[in-house]
Amino acid sequence: MIISGKELSATLKAQMAETVATFPEKYGRVPHLVVILVGNDPGSVSYVTGKAKACEVTGIKNTTIRKPETITEDELLALIRELNEDDSVDGILVQLPLPKHISEAKVIETISKEKDVDGFHPLNVAALWQKQPCTVACTPKGIIRLLKAAGVQIAGKRAVVIGRSNIVGLPVAKLLLDENATVTIAHSRTADLASVTRSAEILVVAIGKPRFVTADMVSEGAAVIDVGVNRDPQTGKLCGDVDFEAIEQKASVITPVPGGVGPMTICCLMENTIECFLRRQ
Ligand code: NAP
Repeated sequence: MIISGKELSATLKAQMAETVATFPEKYGRVPHLVVILVGNDPGSVSYVTGKAKACEVTGIKNTTIRKPETITEDELLALIRELNEDDSVDGILVQLPLPKHISEAKVIETISKEKDVDGFHPLNVAALWQKQPCTVACTPKGIIRLLKAAGVQIAGKRAVVIGRSNIVGLPVAKLLLDENATVTIAHSRTADLASVTRSAEILVVAIGKPRFVTADMVSEGAAVIDVGVNRDPQTGKLCGDVDFEAIEQKASVITPVPGGVGPMTICCLMENTIECFLRRQ
């Protein structure tokens, strides 16, 4: 079964739109997300456009602030501080990656925890690991939603996450653990990766290498979540980290690329913006 993140996110966004439509009467306004885009990287421009469209669908107010690649770190941090103080702003997102002269860590720390819709702020990350209320990073949150919507039971299952980045691998592993899976985190130094992945009943792949996971690395009936977004070196088309066509035959459920985890990430960004708005009421 192919799990369509596109369909699930459309359903969830329609539900959010209904909720947001009640806000003007209840709270006098709708949630407001500010997205800062530095430079003209085509990938980033397309992600930011997708976020603006999702805001439109859900009824969330969106402001996209575009800055040239030459903006200094101090100027960008000053802009974020200004938005932190602005009561009409509920969520702030700075599109990554940033030009090399700007520290992403400083940018992430400068966004106030309360407006950190990405869930990347160290205080949100710490709260997640301490099971405290927090904003959960969008991609990991979307992955759990997808698994649940597909009817995959997580509790008691052996889950393997390939990748240990702060934005995907580690938080996904933590969320799976919180759902009572037994979790193994694999990475570039994992010995005999295939034997580890073959033990997985739930396999989440977040590496960033086209079709890296082959059918022999997946056990029959596994639920496979493909987070990777790559260009196929031969066709130039978008593809994931797993060999979809081959693994589709073995997996019980699998996410496609595009149309799997990606739309859920944006959907959860909308949800996080609404949550930040509600916490501030
Ligand atoms: P990242 O920071 O580059 O992390 C990649 C991880 O993969 C690292 O932990 C690395 O291990 C591991 N890895 C690399 N080569 C490996 C190998 N040969 N065997 C096993 N593990 C290996 O990437 P990321 O930010 O987590 O993103 C991963 C992918 O997800 C990318 O394609 C990205 O574009 C995509 N992504 C998609 C969404 C979405 O919404 N769909 C959101 C975010 C990211 P080490 O730690 O040992 O280096």
